[in-house]
Amino acid sequence: MTRDIGTGGGSVAVTGLRIGVVGGSIAGCAMAIAATRAGAEVTVHERSDGALQERGFGIVMPPSLHRELLASGYLGADMETVPVGTRVWLTRAPGGRSTRELARQRAPVAACNWGLLWRALRGRVGAGVYRRGLPVESVARAASGRGVIRTGDGEREYDIVVGADGYGSVTRGRMAPDVRPLPAGYLAWRGTVPLDVLGDLPGPLELLRGAWATLGFPGGHAVFYVIPGPDPGSRLLAYVVYGAAPRGTGPDAYVHELAGEHFPAEWAEVVARGGAGARGVHPVADFMPPRVAEPPFLLAGDAAGVTRPHTASGAVKALQDALCLERALRGGAASVAEALGRYADERTAEGIRLVELGRRLGHHLVERTPDWAAMGPAEVEAWSRAALNGARSYLYGGVHRP
Ligand SMILES: Cc1cc2nc3c(=O)[nH]c(=O)nc-3n(C[C@H](O)[C@H](O)[C@H](O)COP(=O)(O)OP(=O)(O)OC[C@H]3O[C@@H](n4cnc5c(N)ncnc54)[C@H](O)[C@@H]3O)c2cc1C
Repeated sequence: MTRDIGTGGGSVAVTGLRIGVVGGSIAGCAMAIAATRAGAEVTVHERSDGALQERGFGIVMPPSLHRELLASGYLGADMETVPVGTRVWLTRAPGGRSTRELARQRAPVAACNWGLLWRALRGRVGAGVYRRGLPVESVARAASGRGVIRTGDGEREYDIVVGADGYGSVTRGRMAPDVRPLPAGYLAWRGTVPLDVLGDLPGPLELLRGAWATLGFPGGHAVFYVIPGPDPGSRLLAYVVYGAAPRGTGPDAYVHELAGEHFPAEWAEVVARGGAGARGVHPVADFMPPRVAEPPFLLAGDAAGVTRPHTASGAVKALQDALCLERALRGGAASVAEALGRYADERTAEGIRLVELGRRLGHHLVERTPDWAAMGPAEVEAWSRAALNGARSYLYGGVHRP
């Protein structure tokens, strides 16, 4: 049985609908905001007891998405971002340790601090709505067709259960138990360094004032950009390094060896200063379930599929999932099943597209790196076009389709 959700199209189109969200991170908070805006009654179940903002890594999003989130009230102007318009391609000059610039592309991004984004979204989820410190033990479908969320303090029934519980989602486990992450076979190291400890590195500081940078080396690449720090007006330099897993050395120490061997001296020094506690290492992998909604369940964010991070799209996808849910709920569907079907059509296709794009970018950026040192603007443009193979990516905004 599905519940009639009306055809009003306004903010009360879903009057009386109860939605339970599993997970209260970026996707969970964004989905809760979407469902509340559409008129539903929402409860978020987050297993973690503390604040999630210590995950202060950098992420980027398209400026157009940031503007849309501001205009529609998901985010406020108080959440700082660092907007930059240009991507600069770098490598180490042959035979030395200085920096060689290969090319510049127009590729605007809004750089964010993951923790500040989470805090901004969390601040828009009502206090009584967010239940934390209670892991969801299981989700199920009741005989009525409604969803059931079970936690240590009992069971609750909902018209829709949103699985926003990340990589190891119990909700996805219920919907698509056979889906397993496919390892890419390499690692991503990411970290942040306060800008004020980099004053003696004028090259990176000057370049990153108005741009973000991609540094190519044999067998991988690194990305550098400036993000807001935890205190208003403060700034961090965020980096991600992609490369093969080490043999012998621990992965944490290995990124310093990698940077020391392949980076221009100033950029290696940035990575060397990434302090313990401000670093993380992630095996790169991806997966995609066959369909991201199956009433009464619906998946969002990483629970709904993970792409290799070269697309810079995990949080972006979670936010777009939320905008899509709001549209689907407000869009005049006659039943929950119809609204979820619209969501699934749009978001499954986007997830598949991003997984394919991530694999292609990973292939070109890590698995089969070009001879960066031999490239200039024309070669970078041609290489970008070949890597995209006709696909869209905001990270290559200025690259034209073939
Ligand atoms: C190297 C790297 C670089 C990246 N760069 C970018 C970028 O530039 N741009 C971008 O958009 N994205 C980027 N991403 C991806 C982005 O960080 C993630 O996609 C995003 O944070 C996922 O958010 P989420 O809410 O879906 O999942 P998570 O943040 O993993 O949240 C899941 C939540 O569910 C909770 N939970 C789990 N199980 C349960 C349970 N049983 N009961 C209750 N709660 C539960 C967890 O505690 C957690 O709070 C990057 C990722 C990596 C690894």
